[in-house]
Amino acid sequence: MLVLHDGALVTRDHELPAGAQVEIRPVVSGGAGGPRCVVCGAGAVHEEPRHRASWCPTHLQDHVANQVRRAIDHPPGAPEGARMLHYGERVLIAVSGGKDSLALWDVLHRLGYHVDGLYVGLGIGGYSTRSGEVCRAFAAERGLHLHELELAERYGYTTPSGAGASGRSTCGVCGLSKRHAFDEVAVEHGYDALVTGHNLDDEAATLLGNVIRWQEHFLARQSPYRAGRGPTQPRKVKPLYRLSERETAAYCVVAGIDYVLEECPLVDGNTGHELKGALDLLEAPSPGLKAQFLFGFLDRVADHFDDEVDDDHLASLRECRSCRLPTPNEVCAFCRQRERILAVLPGAGDLDAEPR
Ligand code: SF4
Ligand SMILES: [Zn+2]
Ligand SMILES: [Zn+2]
Repeated sequence: MLVLHDGALVTRDHELPAGAQVEIRPVVSGGAGGPRCVVCGAGAVHEEPRHRASWCPTHLQDHVANQVRRAIDHPPGAPEGARMLHYGERVLIAVSGGKDSLALWDVLHRLGYHVDGLYVGLGIGGYSTRSGEVCRAFAAERGLHLHELELAERYGYTTPSGAGASGRSTCGVCGLSKRHAFDEVAVEHGYDALVTGHNLDDEAATLLGNVIRWQEHFLARQSPYRAGRGPTQPRKVKPLYRLSERETAAYCVVAGIDYVLEECPLVDGNTGHELKGALDLLEAPSPGLKAQFLFGFLDRVADHFDDEVDDDHLASLRECRSCRLPTPNEVCAFCRQRERILAVLPGAGDLDAEPR
């Protein structure tokens, strides 16, 4: 977790005045602290055990930007010379109001990329209201463009009502709807690349889940770089895959980024959380284990799964009869889910049957 006093990160060297009020910000792993910045020797505000390094606020921001730059310049699994992003192209980032996506938007903007945001309103009560406000404020402060899409307006259901009507897990309905919304907006507006804020913890947990179940199809597609394939399939990239949740949270604090601290109130059904907890147990006595697990897979193993399974999948893609996005079936999984939901929801019959 991160400990803050008066808006600044507290390390073990800080002496707090009597009665000082501190804010505890939970992140998934580790603890803050560290004596001296490894770059300039000034007081450090963040220590990263897996790097055996600590940084002052300025060099922590440099460290995060360098990791993002490295991910963009040398994406694992990409053809020789390929980059995640190019200067001058149009990029869309999916933002939730949380630390990862806003930290990444900030870094990409500072690095000089032309990046617009997309916020998808899920209809999860006050959590969604606050998330939307934070994203709007972030974009307005920096003069950046933010697209907004409300599930209820666009598709006729919210995450809670859709989950209730379909009988599927909340996160299952939510995840499929968000992914479809990202794809649809990216294609509609002709973006070259779609960026998401998945970090090292997210990707390691996903990998663990796919390995435990030996889901070869998902292992073949687990990469922070997915090449674009024509106007309906923009490139999909995850430039934060080299950075932990603690690093992005600390970046937000030192960069002055206001993000939504609360977790989604419906997170209990999310199995990714349990997988993260399991990896944290392993990481605690062995800092760097998560990175070894993920980077080892990406560098040495991913290719074994890649081509055959993925090529079969790509060869089978055609246009969804309803939304026109690529799918291996006549109607894509999102449109089938939406049909099931609208068949049950009261009043949904008044809505346009076409999702766009
Ligand atoms: S925790 Fe589940 S319901 Fe909440 S935003 Fe994430 S995917 Fe959606
Ligand atoms: Zn420094
Ligand atoms: Zn469809």
